[in-house]
Amino acid sequence: MEIINRRKRMMSVARRLRREENRTIGLVPTMGALHEGHLSLIHGARALCDVVVVSVFVNPTQFGPTEDFESYPRDLTRDSALLAEYNVDYVFAPTLEEIYPSGAATYVTVEGLSNKLEGAARPGHFRGVTTVVSILLNIVRPNFAFFGQKDAQQSIIIKQMVRDLAFDSEIVVLPIVREEAGLAMSSRNAYLDHPERRAAVVLNKALLQARSAYDDGERNAAKLTEMVRSTIDAEPLARIDYVSVNDAETLEKLDKIEERPALLSLAVFVGKTRLIDNIVLAESKKGETASA
Ligand code: AMP
Repeated sequence: MEIINRRKRMMSVARRLRREENRTIGLVPTMGALHEGHLSLIHGARALCDVVVVSVFVNPTQFGPTEDFESYPRDLTRDSALLAEYNVDYVFAPTLEEIYPSGAATYVTVEGLSNKLEGAARPGHFRGVTTVVSILLNIVRPNFAFFGQKDAQQSIIIKQMVRDLAFDSEIVVLPIVREEAGLAMSSRNAYLDHPERRAAVVLNKALLQARSAYDDGERNAAKLTEMVRSTIDAEPLARIDYVSVNDAETLEKLDKIEERPALLSLAVFVGKTRLIDNIVLAESKKGETASA
């Protein structure tokens, strides 16, 4: 496994792999502090691609001025050891200057979608995400890039960006990986103390209750969100930022769930930590079990 810090080196390695060796490249973009959610993306990349590149970069442009950019967990030594264990071929861990050379003034924005849900709560967040993902896709030019359903809106926005700007990479979205008790894995879970970690299970619990009401025929979005809200409100350490039901592809807000799959998503503060989670509500085809 080679750790690459420079964009020029990453570009020339990727070019050689593509052109001379004719190998397919899978890119897994991360901000490090790796957990099993990231590892499942790497596993997916391994299964589909000859060469796996994992980027580790805490991207300042996707953090708001009062958010946790400074305190975000960083441990490249631990991450690299994990990645080596997972047979990753290249770790791309650039410095700030390698991603945003001084004077960089270009941003990529997906209009509309970027202002809803997480974008409404975190202005500028998705502009930072789409800008850094564009830069990473241009440096590595992977055949496939892997993202998690954990950040459902991010995956939708990146797919739209790849279509609109004709990036020559296919976006693969993989399911949410959860801890045994149901809490979605997240690097930010490291901020939770013991009581908060126990309390955080309420997010998944509330989503599963809504799923079960949906399975019993409930299609009214207000009723489903109310159900989620009351479960979460009963947890003293939790404070809701939003709970929303949207079309799972267009993110259009729904009053009623009809044939198309719906995304039930939420953001909740547990103590000072802001956590997100979601579930897709869709009619399961015969013989198929619905999954988050
Ligand atoms: P991050 O390092 O938080 O920016 O996440 C990097 C990638 O891992 C993103 O595509 C996330 O959606 C994905 N990811 C994070 N947590 C999970 C999880 N629990 N399950 C699946 N994918 C995840």
